Amino acid sequence: MSGRTHARVCPERTCVGCRERAAKSDLLRIVVIEGECVPDDRGTLPGRGAYVHPALVCFDLAVRRRAFPRAFRAQGPLDTAAARRYVEQAAP
Ligand SMILES: [Zn+2]
Repeated sequence: MSGRTHARVCPERTCVGCRERAAKSDLLRIVVIEGECVPDDRGTLPGRGAYVHPALVCFDLAVRRRAFPRAFRAQGPLDTAAARRYVEQAAP
């Protein structure tokens, strides 16, 4: 009775904007490079990542909540302009 199942088909992550869990593949991974939030759309960049829905509502919510500095344990504010532009273009 190990309780282990084969249900781990899709890994889930929590969106730092709306705080809802979603399949990792449905979220945009954000990493920080030299104080700037960078969208990691291929999921290949090294380091700590934060996940957010590729939607402006979630992204702006995350920025307003300072979720990115918290997720990355940053001391100061992070530049989110480029990542926001990315989301803006990715969003319908
Ligand atoms: Zn979200």
